[in-house]
Amino acid sequence: MSKQKRFLLDESELPRQWYNIQADMINKPLPLLNPATKEPLTADDLAHIFAAECAKQELDQEHAWIDIPEEVFDRYKYYRSTPLVRAYALEKALGTPAHIYFKNESVNPLGSHKINSALPQCYYCKQEGTTNVTTETGAGQWGAALSYAAKAFGLECAVYQVKISMQQKPYRSSIMRTFGATVEGSPSMSTRAGKDIITRDPLHPGSLGTAISEAVELATTTPNCKYTLGSVMSHVSLHQTVIGLEAEKQMEKAGEYPDTIIACFGGGSNFGGLAFPFMRHTILEGKKTEYIAAEPSSCPKLTKGKFEYDFGDEAGYTPLLPMYTLGHEFKPANIHAGGLRYHGAGTIVSQLLKDGYMRAVDIPQTESFAAGLLFAQTESIIPAPESCHAIAATIREAKKCIETGEEKVILFNLSGHGLIDMTAYDSYLNGDLTDPEFKG
Ligand SMILES: *Cc1c(COP(=O)(O)O)cnc(C)c1O
Repeated sequence: MSKQKRFLLDESELPRQWYNIQADMINKPLPLLNPATKEPLTADDLAHIFAAECAKQELDQEHAWIDIPEEVFDRYKYYRSTPLVRAYALEKALGTPAHIYFKNESVNPLGSHKINSALPQCYYCKQEGTTNVTTETGAGQWGAALSYAAKAFGLECAVYQVKISMQQKPYRSSIMRTFGATVEGSPSMSTRAGKDIITRDPLHPGSLGTAISEAVELATTTPNCKYTLGSVMSHVSLHQTVIGLEAEKQMEKAGEYPDTIIACFGGGSNFGGLAFPFMRHTILEGKKTEYIAAEPSSCPKLTKGKFEYDFGDEAGYTPLLPMYTLGHEFKPANIHAGGLRYHGAGTIVSQLLKDGYMRAVDIPQTESFAAGLLFAQTESIIPAPESCHAIAATIREAKKCIETGEEKVILFNLSGHGLIDMTAYDSYLNGDLTDPEFKG
């Protein structure tokens, strides 16, 4: 009998609520602090730059379930459910007794999970009378998702993309512009912050720090304009829980329950999105499941960072966040997994790691691409360089099962495809990729 490979949900089975793990956590995340007064931030403070509803969700430690607005649900229906896939060919190539499943979040108009949070963020902005949204983007996945969502809800969108990334990945700005967004290479001449940087250093290549400064300046100086973020913040992970909630039902259809759950880790949104719905059974019912975050060896905040209050950005504009961090002035090596080059981890994940609910592994760049290549050649999908880290961690676990003979059920998140990152694959195939060392 042929065995089922892909598991999908009917529209009637799609989640109608997001899961807020903060409500069930035994030790809640510590408060965000105002850097000047060291006082805990309120939702009102956050609502100056974020949509008020997102600000409220950010600090909500009370409600475990939050309704997905009907208009957002209608947009999720364009591409959800995403497939849960059994990776038979990968299992066979590894010779492992493990059962490997992946949730394929690359199957949507933009090709990464980021769209799951871009849609509600733009929806809430629209509801609250905002006309414009802005953000910064490095590699461009978040900028692309936001551009799409802004168009869907009738908002103007301005994205500041790190100038050097814009030159390295020109197609991401083409995608943003196709969905109607304005894209500026940062530093730009369109803001005070950008002009100051260019005056000091006319050839500045840009960084997430310069782009954040410009986006925040635009949001605070333009009427009816809000700032948005695609990772790190708790409300972003909340929106991403559609991934895990679907996966839970799909695993049930497959007749299995995961022993190990793995996702790559930049700021934590795709990890939280997949893991938190399963982790509620660990917190509430003591279910034994292992949760593994896969980060790059060159930017190892979870495995080598410190748990402390730190700024979310290089320039020190954001609130102080209680998190595992390498320090906000840490300059990550220029690895191809742009989405994982961030110095800190979200506050929820940081608390969960501290409390022993999960662990982290760090993956060298060349190991990640070797894993990505094997995955492409077996499962027929070219994974995003970020997602390659989750695949590498999965392969490590599956190989352990060869030694122990355990038929472990491993579930990982395929956070995106790599079709716009082929220069990275070329470098790997040409033997030009290095494993930058972490200098802490
Ligand atoms: C942005 C991104 C990531 C990292 O962000 P998280 O918030 O940690 O999920 C991972 N994979 C892809 C494809 C991304 O675009």
